[in-house]
Amino acid sequence: MSDATVGECLPTVYFVGAGPGDPALLTVRAAALLAAADLVLYDRLSANCQPLGPTDALWECVEQLPGCHPDRVGAISRRMLEAAQAGKRVVRLKGGDSMIFGRAAEEWHPLIDAGFPVEVVPGVTAALAAAAGAMVSLTDRRIASAVALVTGHENPDKPGSMIDWSALAQFPGTLVFYMGVARLGHLVERLSHHGKPETTPVALVSRASFPDETIVQATLGTIENAARLQGIAAPAITIVGEVARDSAARAIRKRQLQGAVVITTRPEGQERPLLESLARQGAVAVNLPVLGIGPPPQPDLLDSAIDQLSRYDWVVFFSANGVKAFFERLTERSLDARCFGNARVAAIGRETAKRLLEVGIRADLIPHAERSEGLADALLPVVSGRRMLLVRADRGREQLEQALRAVATVDSVAAYVQIDRDLFGHGSVERLIAGKYDLLLATSGQAFLGVLRHLDENGKKRLINGEAAIVALGQVTAAAIQNSGYPVARIANSADSSSMTQAVVDAWTKKN
Ligand code: SAH
Repeated sequence: MSDATVGECLPTVYFVGAGPGDPALLTVRAAALLAAADLVLYDRLSANCQPLGPTDALWECVEQLPGCHPDRVGAISRRMLEAAQAGKRVVRLKGGDSMIFGRAAEEWHPLIDAGFPVEVVPGVTAALAAAAGAMVSLTDRRIASAVALVTGHENPDKPGSMIDWSALAQFPGTLVFYMGVARLGHLVERLSHHGKPETTPVALVSRASFPDETIVQATLGTIENAARLQGIAAPAITIVGEVARDSAARAIRKRQLQGAVVITTRPEGQERPLLESLARQGAVAVNLPVLGIGPPPQPDLLDSAIDQLSRYDWVVFFSANGVKAFFERLTERSLDARCFGNARVAAIGRETAKRLLEVGIRADLIPHAERSEGLADALLPVVSGRRMLLVRADRGREQLEQALRAVATVDSVAAYVQIDRDLFGHGSVERLIAGKYDLLLATSGQAFLGVLRHLDENGKKRLINGEAAIVALGQVTAAAIQNSGYPVARIANSADSSSMTQAVVDAWTKKN
């Protein structure tokens, strides 16, 4: 009854393809719908897209719906119907594309029968992500003018085989199998039995687009063994055909951190670009924010520095966090960048300069943060005899401050405190404690000490003997680490993600 009366304002239910796993492969339309949703019903494989949704949308994994097995589709449809009838904006987020082995049509029938409009948003299907990962062109005008998408897992309710193996073995193009890892042997046996040569190239791509994407290159005759040796697990795509020849060699060059587990120590909230950059090179990267940030230790000192600001010749910001904390205080006091008057501004490192630009100040001088001699060299000549204010954390960079005091009139104020965080009990620290990582990227001496605090003697030994290699951000950090008796494999010269990633790649290459 109620359906008929509310007919004209029934909400649309969206079937959205989540892509193969990497949230960056969502479509723009998908991201917009997720941002506006009230309820997102998602498959386990699309859970990665969750951070893109607003926090007030309800995210429910369909595997947790009651009464899901064996008839999951019915339970999903019921849940969508119930939410849509309550006027909720429902997104059904499905891995890859919702209409490729996705049973979307079965799920939306009850909705359409009840009069709800349904819109489908396409997604990057796993076959395409796997092909991209392995750098296999699924079509090629010389050797493959057609592509077949095939399920390796047939509907168990159907008697006999639905797959015409004989036709597939003769198919004049590329075969792409979904859901086939557990039955790889069966697949190989059927194709060979029907005359597909054992020398046919095969590329198997597991977890396409995820940081731990793995590619196995073999032939029809050898793929089963090769996959077993590499411990390949679902989800995986198997590409069979001439186009898969030499795929692994091409793909491996692309992902230089394949198989590496990297621990980083960026402050909380600043880790994302670095983690993404490492993941793009194939690393599994985990951030441990061993240092936290707290309010200014002496707010009245910060306030009086702000009041005096225009009397300084130079104001030097030591870090992006310093900029953030300083401007937060300005805002709290209803002030803005005009308090700087004619003071010139220096930003140590590009990240700091970037943050300053965001609050409307273009730094006059940007010495690179990472080499202490470079810092002093750049600053000393211009500040000599001047009155300067250093905006910093409550600790760190003491040597630089001393060097400046020798030539200028220096006031220094702490805009925030650095807090040692205890991460015991957080899931993220487990890899560190268990020694299940290959590289540690320490972004400051303090952060390195923060990591050590979480390690027992064995854990420290792994670092001392280089079993896990240490990469330091900047010479100052490297010196601090070496002074405490640990070896540094590589030094990143700049705090931007690509320099840090490159240093990690170099250390990993050297290690292997
Ligand atoms: N609708 C999905 C496919 C669902 S069937 C799509 O369009 O991609 C599930 C199968 O998809 C898995 O068994 C696996 O074969 C494949 N798959 C899904 N995500 C994958 C990924 N990231 N890497 C490799 N294969 C994947």
